[in-house]
Amino acid sequence: KKIKVAIDGPASSGKSTVAKRLAKQFGFIYTDTGAMYRAVTYLALTYHVPFSDEQALVELLHQHPIEFKQTQTEQQVFVDQKNITDAIRQPDVTNNVSEVATHQGVREALVKQQQLIAENGQVIMDGRDIGTAVLPDAQVKIFLVASVTERAQRRYAENQTKGILTDLDTLTKEIQQRDHIDSTREISPLKQAEDAILVDTTGKSIDQVVQIIAEYIQQ
Ligand code: C5P
Repeated sequence: KKIKVAIDGPASSGKSTVAKRLAKQFGFIYTDTGAMYRAVTYLALTYHVPFSDEQALVELLHQHPIEFKQTQTEQQVFVDQKNITDAIRQPDVTNNVSEVATHQGVREALVKQQQLIAENGQVIMDGRDIGTAVLPDAQVKIFLVASVTERAQRRYAENQTKGILTDLDTLTKEIQQRDHIDSTREISPLKQAEDAILVDTTGKSIDQVVQIIAEYIQQ
């Protein structure tokens, strides 16, 4: 039986960190769907396409398909034969990706690609709409949350290791802004699926969160 695990939640709630650990533990393929929306945003920046222009963004995506190279825990993203795995984490992508992700045409193309990946076998996929729209039949659905203070602190620490300097206040506002756009958009807004399990990671270690979710997968 093909097991699918969906992990959704707001920005910086720890989805990718725990999803990678679980993928390794259970031998699943890890797929970070946010990377696809980031890749479209990267393309828009590269080719000077306005983030508001749905038609042009969809066209861009057809001309420059996003390719994933996946191992169990690592996912590398390519467009135009170029590895953009690190480039899509830059602040100019992060601060514009939510607008790009509001467009129906963009979402339809990416959701299709995500569903194809999931057909290949056991997956653990993270995003905003995995449990509600991409894999509604996932056997395990987790909705991961954490306080905004803790999420900003995590992002701050993560940025430091990459040499990106942004103060905590700015990061907090950016996270809140992204959550606001993601949860109020018309198409597949960020929201907990009815059959998803809510896991609050505030004050919990990565090990603790991995352990909690692992128990649901084992059932
Ligand atoms: O997960 P990550 O923070 O990299 O996602 C970046 C952005 O991509 C989100 O803020 C959201 O706007 C969009 N996204 C989405 N649906 C997904 C995954 C990400 O709309 N399944």
